[in-house]
Amino acid sequence: MHAESHGPENDLPAAVATINEPPAQAARPARTRKKLPVVNKDFQLETYSWHRLRRIIHAVCFVTFVLLPFFNVIRFDIPRQRFYFVGFELWINEFAIVFFSLMFLLFVITAASMLFGRVYCGYLCPQMIFSEASINLEERIKTFVNKYFAKQSLSVRHWLNNIAVYSVLGIASVFLAFVFISYFVEPRDLFGRLISFDVVTAGGIAGAAVTIITFVDFAFLRQRFCTTVCPYGYLQGILGDNNTLVVHYRDPEELCVECKKCIRVCHMGIDIRTSPYQIECIHCGECVDACKLIMGKFGKDTLIHYAWGEKGELLGDGRAPWYRRIGLRDAKRIAVIAIILVYGTSLAIAFSMRHSVLVRVSPDRSTLFRKGDDERIYNRFRLNLANRSRTDAAVTISINGLPDAVTTIPTNEIAIKAGESIETEFEISVPAGSLSQQVNHFTIDSVASPEATRDTFEQTFIMPLEKITK
Ligand code: SF4
Ligand code: SF4
Repeated sequence: MHAESHGPENDLPAAVATINEPPAQAARPARTRKKLPVVNKDFQLETYSWHRLRRIIHAVCFVTFVLLPFFNVIRFDIPRQRFYFVGFELWINEFAIVFFSLMFLLFVITAASMLFGRVYCGYLCPQMIFSEASINLEERIKTFVNKYFAKQSLSVRHWLNNIAVYSVLGIASVFLAFVFISYFVEPRDLFGRLISFDVVTAGGIAGAAVTIITFVDFAFLRQRFCTTVCPYGYLQGILGDNNTLVVHYRDPEELCVECKKCIRVCHMGIDIRTSPYQIECIHCGECVDACKLIMGKFGKDTLIHYAWGEKGELLGDGRAPWYRRIGLRDAKRIAVIAIILVYGTSLAIAFSMRHSVLVRVSPDRSTLFRKGDDERIYNRFRLNLANRSRTDAAVTISINGLPDAVTTIPTNEIAIKAGESIETEFEISVPAGSLSQQVNHFTIDSVASPEATRDTFEQTFIMPLEKITK
């Protein structure tokens, strides 16, 4: 059971915008209040409720949000130009795989919106989690001040309350901004900047700016952000269809007792009874619990439900086949799930094929060949090595298919430290007249330790047109 006082309905605009209706949404038509006999005035929500589930998920999300950058699970490290993703350290020159990874995450969120509506907003979004947390915090502080400073005047309690709320939110903002920026700057590096009060470098200025924005957001803006700044709610109107999960008021027997508890608990300050397609509704299910609590006292089921579309069956309807119960309700949805599986599998294969030590060999054709004083013909090549792992490595090079070839770089164990890049040029030479053709195909092979990953680079060796003799 949850308190009904946590809704910020007084802080939010009264006008309710809907997708299909004009913004100044009309109030529900007046109706005759039905008199239902109270059969169980002590009715309580069962242990399982959407509110409780949200609290658990919010706690898990908070811990995950804090821990992810510290364990390099995901971080776009701007100073180092690295992208850390589930244990892989991707370099900025691997932009394609970074891009496709981000596109995959975007695609998953989009598909989830099509199937399950705005569950991301209600259950997973950090903005919503911290907005609700700041409201709850404010209410607790208010209760505390009223209890322990009851003898003080109203204005003193008001000031005490404000000082306490803004102080706690200020400290929380520094912490949250620190975690947020840790997604872009290595946490230890960031901590050093924080304790030295760095507001000079780009990182320090960004940290100070994000702290102020975080404070303003959670102290004043809160859920207004969702309806004024965030585009996700508007996108939901495009992504959803008649089978998308919505929170829906269904009252064919006109049992509603007009208690308005469903409105009071709503953080977004709306009346779900007017339409299931209101752009403010984040599908959190708080109104479902509220109505269940009220109607339970009358021995009736809730009038507000999660349902698959406005006219679809209710969530949890055990009569529907399993695939319909999890949201697979038409060919479009099955196609989207199949695309996600194929996309995800391809991405996993791309990651597994990625070598932590990158070796690239390319010819330098600014000059085709050079005749040396030593009666040898020289061709120039470029070698790029990048150790994208966290352990030192070594690369061994060998030349195959080019008789009597000699190279100017060491072929044995070129050492490359963790995170190091080497870019160098080298020459390969053969005795003049040793090759009869102008263009000669051969391979440069590499083995990178400690993973013993092998690469083969097909190259051509250019000889002079005239046959050179010793
Ligand atoms: S109407 Fe219900 S589901 Fe929608 S935001 Fe308000 S409480 Fe949550
Ligand atoms: S909580 Fe239920 S009974 Fe009360 S006003 Fe809302 S829909 Fe009607």
